[in-house]
Amino acid sequence: MIEVSKKCIGCGKCVPVCPFAAINMIDKKAVMNEACTLCGVCVQICPVQAIAITREEASRRDHSGFKGVWVYVELTETGDKTHPKKIKPVTFELLGAGRKLADELKEDLCAVLLTDKDHGYEKELGSYGADKVYMVEHDELFEYNTDIFSTVVVSLVNRHKPSVMLYGATIQGRDLAPRVASALYVGLTADCTALAIKDGLLLQSRPAFGGNIMADILSPNSRPQMATVRPNVMKMNEPVHGRTAMTVRESAKLDKSLRRVKVLERKLSHDGGGVRIENAKIIVSGGRGMKTKDKFKLLDELSKLLGGVVGASRAAVDLGFKEKTHQVGQSGTTVSPKLYLSFGISGAVQHIVGMKSSDVIVAVNKDPNAPIFNVAKYGIVGDAHEIAPKLIEALKKK
Ligand code: FAD
Ligand code: SF4
Ligand code: SF4
Repeated sequence: MIEVSKKCIGCGKCVPVCPFAAINMIDKKAVMNEACTLCGVCVQICPVQAIAITREEASRRDHSGFKGVWVYVELTETGDKTHPKKIKPVTFELLGAGRKLADELKEDLCAVLLTDKDHGYEKELGSYGADKVYMVEHDELFEYNTDIFSTVVVSLVNRHKPSVMLYGATIQGRDLAPRVASALYVGLTADCTALAIKDGLLLQSRPAFGGNIMADILSPNSRPQMATVRPNVMKMNEPVHGRTAMTVRESAKLDKSLRRVKVLERKLSHDGGGVRIENAKIIVSGGRGMKTKDKFKLLDELSKLLGGVVGASRAAVDLGFKEKTHQVGQSGTTVSPKLYLSFGISGAVQHIVGMKSSDVIVAVNKDPNAPIFNVAKYGIVGDAHEIAPKLIEALKKK
């Protein structure tokens, strides 16, 4: 419920910021109409704290009207002028996971797309499993902005009431999801590694206590049940060409004054700047067993010959063998290449959680009991310093 108290001085500042034209000035007092979605934007803007939103206690809420599994669509810059943005792969991974959840719940799988220009993204979203695409097209959505995007997402949720909402655990998703969760007064489980339905609720599993145990989390008292999932954790389904999604165009009245952070300059780095192990098809990774930074360089050579990227365990990063951007694992990057070669890595749970969904894992370790062999398809018990040069030699001959 939203209320305007006697403190209202009739300044009218709340009127232009309301994205839903839900405020009228009547007798020099702000009065909210039924279009209000309780997004909370006016509360922040009022100079005399005259507006208050009260929410029902979570456990007393009626959840029967909440239906649908939603996936937040993340767009990324391409640097190409004709197609300046494309959908991030994590969105398709979430659609794959969301499809299973929606089928089990017998609800729709919906994609939520916020963009300044429609570049026909709906077709792609449909081919990856979305039944519906809620699309908001507005000039103010030209780039991600916490205030603007969270306002739109909160209003869509209040209007359509999904039961589940998933975001990529990316820089954007990690910024947006908590903001939306706090505006809606709901929970959020970050960095889930598995999602399922249990007794009609979203079962959110994620590593806890430094990755030593898996925690299963349910949110029985709040809707939507919200989770973020890291890129490369869920398997992407093959797109079904010709499968289409229904597009629901939503409007939002967005005022520039909502944008509290202004981007003054943007510098896009394409490759040269950072290592992109998250998208690599082949990763040659090394751990403490490589012993020295110099010996670790063998892996650079091997990965070059294979057309791959070098990865590292946290121990290798801590020892300065490789930069942090190469770290694979719980506190590094989650990867899912076609081939993951590991040299001198023991296979601690925090490392495994970041690479176990690789298609083929080949492990080299001199200890036959190293846990890495439990997830490896091919295991070589031996000295990494002998095996890596042999592989290099063989590849060079080829
Ligand atoms: P070690 O465990 O020391 O293993 C070295 C291995 O090399 C051994 O198995 C040994 O038999 C083998 N070896 C030695 N010499 C040779 C040789 N000549 N040839 C072949 N094999 C040899 N770790 C990560 O990797 N990524 C993370 O993101 C991450 N996040 C973490 C987050 C938290 C909260 C915590 C608590 C820990 C995290 N860790 C992470 C650390 C993790 O627990 C391990 O300490 C780390 O993965 C160990 O790295 P390692 O396998 O290289 O080293
Ligand atoms: Fe305020 Fe948002 Fe309601 Fe508009 S929709 S009146 S900004 S809470
Ligand atoms: Fe009243 Fe606050 Fe709106 Fe100004 S911003 S009109 S004081 S409710």
